[in-house]
Amino acid sequence: MKLLEKLSVYGDVEYQEPLSKHTTYRIGGKSRYFIYPKNIMCLMSILDILKEEKITFRMLGKGSNILCADEDYDGAILCLDRYFNEFYFEEDGTCVAQAGTSIILLAHEAMKKSFSGLEFASGIPGTVGGAVFMNAGAYRSDIGSILTKVFVLKDGICTWMTKEELAFQYRHSIFQEYRHWIILGVELKLTHGDQKEIRDLMDSRRKRRIEAQPLDKPCAGSVFRNPPNGQAWELIERIGYRGKQVGGAKVSEKHANFIINTGDAKAQDVISLITMIQKEVKQQFDIDLITEVEKFNWKQ
Ligand SMILES: Cc1cc2nc3c(=O)[nH]c(=O)nc-3n(C[C@H](O)[C@H](O)[C@H](O)COP(=O)(O)OP(=O)(O)OC[C@H]3O[C@@H](n4cnc5c(N)ncnc54)[C@H](O)[C@@H]3O)c2cc1C
Repeated sequence: MKLLEKLSVYGDVEYQEPLSKHTTYRIGGKSRYFIYPKNIMCLMSILDILKEEKITFRMLGKGSNILCADEDYDGAILCLDRYFNEFYFEEDGTCVAQAGTSIILLAHEAMKKSFSGLEFASGIPGTVGGAVFMNAGAYRSDIGSILTKVFVLKDGICTWMTKEELAFQYRHSIFQEYRHWIILGVELKLTHGDQKEIRDLMDSRRKRRIEAQPLDKPCAGSVFRNPPNGQAWELIERIGYRGKQVGGAKVSEKHANFIINTGDAKAQDVISLITMIQKEVKQQFDIDLITEVEKFNWKQ
């Protein structure tokens, strides 16, 4: 059986799939395989096949925190957002969700059931898996603070890992050190709240985001982590880079910590702009700005 046919037994498989279709930056070369595994057993079979064929793989959620290189990726991307998107709420506020679930959808479903805790996530356009990997957060909250455990496939074994084992910090989790571990699902602990208050908070934050962020342009959210005791956008503003453009990539006029794709940006344009900002901020303020956006398939 040809490899493509073999993989297709266990999932939906696209061949030579443009990653620009799967990233919010709308940037990226083609991936040799792009696979949606049908369930956990299928995922494990796919991993066995890839290992046998010596094909590297990488997980992708909704591609909302990723800058893919312009070059093609000679491996497989595994994406859980088609078949791993079920979630369940218990009466006491325990929520179990599969890793491919949209975190925005989950926040809305929690609100409909009058559960509080996920309000911060209602504007974060990723999956539950991507949110755990990044410890995504906003408004002084993050997924790490409402999570009790994560269901993980590591080294061929499915197991629950407790919050204490996950090394959550600001935009950091242990999964950034163990990139071959696959997040399959989470258990969150939400609290009972007033539905109207939860909805009003989510609505007001959505309005604030629309006002403050360039949501009408392809981007990947904040490009840099905030340095200790500071705001990345403020430093970028102070070096005079608001509106600065390289090729098709531009520092947003609306929010200086967002780099937008004006239409035909290459990944290289975005990286050039990132490097220029880092150099200038270092020179002027002796601060190392660290990227929050993840680079994928870059040679160096
Ligand atoms: C407009 C906009 C606003 C944003 N606002 C915020 C914000 O307020 N706060 C914030 O924290 N982020 C924000 N982001 C960034 C982004 O949405 C988050 O980081 C999100 O959690 C990424 O989820 P994802 O599913 O898109 O992950 P991806 O970008 O697809 O992947 C991110 C990383 O997670 C890994 N990964 C994904 N799924 C799995 C899995 N199942 N198992 C193992 N590894 C996995 C990937 O390999 C990759 O390394 C914003 C982005 C945009 C475009």
